[in-house]
This record gives sequence, structure tokens and C-alpha cells, in this order.
Amino acid sequence: MIRYHASWVVPIEGEPIKDGWVMVNGGRIVALGRRAANDTTKGIELGDVAVMPGLVNAHTHLEFSYMRDQVPPASSFTAWARQIINERRNAPHPLKDPRVIDAIDGAIDELLRCGTAVVGEITNTLFVTFDKLAKSALAGVVFWELIGFNMGEDADFDKILQQALEDLGDLPRTEKVRASLAAHAPYSVAPLFFRAIKKAVDKMPFVPSSVHLAENSEEVELLKTGAGPWQTLMKDIGSWNHAWTAPGVGPVQYLDNMKFIDDRLLVVHGVQMSPDDLELLRERGATLVTCPRSNAHTGAGVPPILDFYQSGVRVAIGTDSLASSPDLNVFAEIATMHALAPSVPAAALLESATIQGARALGFDADYGTIEPGKLARLIAVDVPPGTSDVEEYLVSGIHPGQIRWVQS
Ligand SMILES: [Zn+2]
Repeated sequence: MIRYHASWVVPIEGEPIKDGWVMVNGGRIVALGRRAANDTTKGIELGDVAVMPGLVNAHTHLEFSYMRDQVPPASSFTAWARQIINERRNAPHPLKDPRVIDAIDGAIDELLRCGTAVVGEITNTLFVTFDKLAKSALAGVVFWELIGFNMGEDADFDKILQQALEDLGDLPRTEKVRASLAAHAPYSVAPLFFRAIKKAVDKMPFVPSSVHLAENSEEVELLKTGAGPWQTLMKDIGSWNHAWTAPGVGPVQYLDNMKFIDDRLLVVHGVQMSPDDLELLRERGATLVTCPRSNAHTGAGVPPILDFYQSGVRVAIGTDSLASSPDLNVFAEIATMHALAPSVPAAALLESATIQGARALGFDADYGTIEPGKLARLIAVDVPPGTSDVEEYLVSGIHPGQIRWVQS
């Protein structure tokens, strides 16, 4: 039994505790509380730190890590997508090239240095990041992302999905890292493919699923009119589906009409969502994952952070990949959200970075708050002596040098 003392304990579930303590036994939290003035119980003194749960980075693409600082910011999302598609077409083989592999290793180290305990990772190769995450100290879900817009009329979606489920079944068994399926986005996944993916996910024991949605204005234009920059791009790369007709509705309504949106779905980005869209997501119990620094870099624009929180939808946070984000530091993402929407309470942002992400990924029994019974995957963040509003301090920009793991 080990007792840790800190100037602040931030349990997320409940108010921050000044002069707090956390008791840990066998890697699990036993109890927590506030030290009274006459409390002489011995413990490990952590000093001027905020002890809090390890963070949840709910949206990454670790396989893109080798593109760090390689893809310049774009003025529109489709302009950015063209750069990425070109880069990926000349890309080193993800399974064989040491540049890709080394960059994934470096990114996993960086996630840990940034205080990340749980990750929502999108993969296009399935095995590489799954194996590496399974061997790391991180927990999380690896979403195997499926893409296919121009699949042909005779495409056998049930067969494609059956094969995908068998491939997932071939992964090594580990409780710490789970695998699931994700649809990429409305402009890259045919409607029948969306339906088949949903059917396959519903067959699996509880794992979440994921989709990029309402990320950019060109996506909205495509679904409304059937034309615009996405159509041009898809034609240019030979992926346009001539049989596809525009649904004439927004991205959220489009997927909801296909019954794709429910409480196991992580809906990533939402830059273009209206309050009505957010209300629908809230009703369905989906979790919105915001990645504002990536949205700025890709030309997608500024997400309506205040609307997200005012709608009551569950909000989690992701950094997105190192192709569009300067680092994998969720604290930096929180600071950006705080700057964009200063009236959103700091406590709500911290919940998004911890319990909301953990719940969406299905890891809230062990992660996301400091509560008896949960894993002691706790971080200690340096705070200045005499800090009075610790939540405000934590949302104002924490760099990795201030973070250490309470138990390694
Ligand atoms: Zn993404």
C-alpha cells in the first residue's frame, strides 16, 4: 500500500482536492482524500504537482507519424487532402520501411511523455500499430479504417466485412488493446459500405466504432449538391462513383438516415456541424471527438467548441496525426480549445481529455478518473507553488517537461 501526497489531486470525478492524497495498492486506487492539518500519516511527497488520471487521446493516426512537419498547412481541406494523397502514393511501405516504423515508435514514446494512458488509433494496415500498442504501456482501441467509394455495383460488402472480421480475429489476444472497424468519411465510403460496416460492428462484442464527419465544407457541398472540389478530386484520382447520387442533406443527417450513428460511435471533427446536428448526436449518445489544431492546419477551419459544449453532446479530444498536428500533446489541444472558447468551464475540458474519451473507447472501468478500484495510471503535472485555480492552470498549456508518471 503506497500513499502519495500532492499539493493538488484532480480526480475529475468531483472537485479538485487541495493538499490531497491518493492510496494505491497493487496498481489500483484504493482511496483518496484531503490531508487535515494534524494528519501525520507518512506518504511519498510529490510536491507542487497536480495528480490526475492519465489522459485519453481519442484520435490519432500513428502510421502517419513519419510525415511530421512534411505537409504544409493548406487553405482548403481538399487542397490538403491532395497533398496527403500524393504523399501516400509515394509512401514507403508501412510494413517494411524503417522510417515509418521508427516514427511510430517515436510517436508512442511521445504519447507517454505527454501523459497519455489511452489512445483511439486509426490504422490502415491493422497489424503494425496494434502490435506496437499492445507491447507499450498504452491502452486503447485500434480502428481498422475502411475506405471504398467506387466499389462497383457487384461489390460483395458482406464478404468484404466477413474477411475484415476474420482478420481482426487473427490479432493476438490482449485486453489492453482492442480492435474494431471504422468507416473513413462520407466522401470515401459508399452508402452500402457504410451499412455493411455498421452491421459488422454490431455483431462484435462491445467495441466502439469511428468516422470522420462534417470535417470540411467541401464534404457538406458534396452531400448537398453532388459536386464541388471533392467530386473533382475523386475523379482526378479515379475513385469517383458515377452511380452515387447526393442525398441532399448534411453529413450528420446522411449517416443518421443510414442508422450509422449510435452510442458506440466516435464522430471525429464536426467542424461544420450546426446546433441541430449536435443535438442529434446528443440524442443518439455518440461522442464527438474534436481536433482543433489539425482542423486549422488542414484548412478545415475552426470547430465551434462553444456550440459543442452548449449542445450537451459528449466531447472527447484527439490530436489527430503528426501529418497535421505539431505534436501528440492533448494538453496543447486543451489549451487551443480554451483559447477558442474561454467560457467553457476548465473542468469540462479536463473531463473531455479523460473520462469522456475513456468512456467512448470503452475503458472507463479502469481509466479516466481517480476513483477506488480504477487503475493507478496517474500523472503528476508540475504546478507553480501557491496555485489557487488548478483546473484553470491545467487548461492553459502544459508541456511534456512538466509531466511524469506517478507509477511507472
Ligand atoms: Zn483522422
